[in-house]
Amino acid sequence: MADPDCIFCRILAGELPARVVEEDERTIAFMDIAPATRGHALVIPRAHSVDLLSIGEQDLQAVILAARRLAARAKERLGADGVNLINSCGAAAWQTVFHFHVHVIPRYEGDPLQLPWVPSPGDQDEIAAVAQELGGP
Ligand code: 5GP
Ligand code: ZN
Repeated sequence: MADPDCIFCRILAGELPARVVEEDERTIAFMDIAPATRGHALVIPRAHSVDLLSIGEQDLQAVILAARRLAARAKERLGADGVNLINSCGAAAWQTVFHFHVHVIPRYEGDPLQLPWVPSPGDQDEIAAVAQELGGP
C-alpha cells in the first residue's frame, strides 16, 4: 500500500512533517509547502495511488468531497473569493509527486495567478475531428 519512496506516504506515516488541516477515514489534507496563494492545500488519499487513472473510485470520491469541504472553508475562514481545484495527471501535465492529490487553491480578487493558456477560438474542423476520435466508438 504505502510506497517508502513516496513523500506523501512518508507524510502519512508521520516520517515527514506536514500542517494537516483536515482528515477522515480515507483522506488527509495538508498545506502545500510552496503555496500558490494563501491557504493552498493538498488533499490526498491515505492509500497510495499514483494518479487519476489508477486511484480507486471510493478514494477518488472521498478526495473530491474533502476538497469541496476545504474549498468551502477557504471561502468562509480565509475570505477567498473563489477556489481552483487542480489535479495533474502525468509528468507531461506537470505532475511532480506521484501520489494522487488535488490542489485546493483559494483565489482572491486581483491575485497574480493566471490561466496557463491563452484562450483563442479553435479551428472548427480540428475540433470536430478530435471530437470524433475522443467520442467515437
Ligand atoms: P504536483 O506538481 O504533483 O501537481 O504537486 C505537488 C505539490 O506538492 C507541489 O505543489 C509541491 O509544492 C508540493 N510538495 C512537494 N513536496 C512537499 C512536501 O514535502 N510537503 C508538502 N507539504 N508539500 C510538498
Ligand atoms: Zn504515496
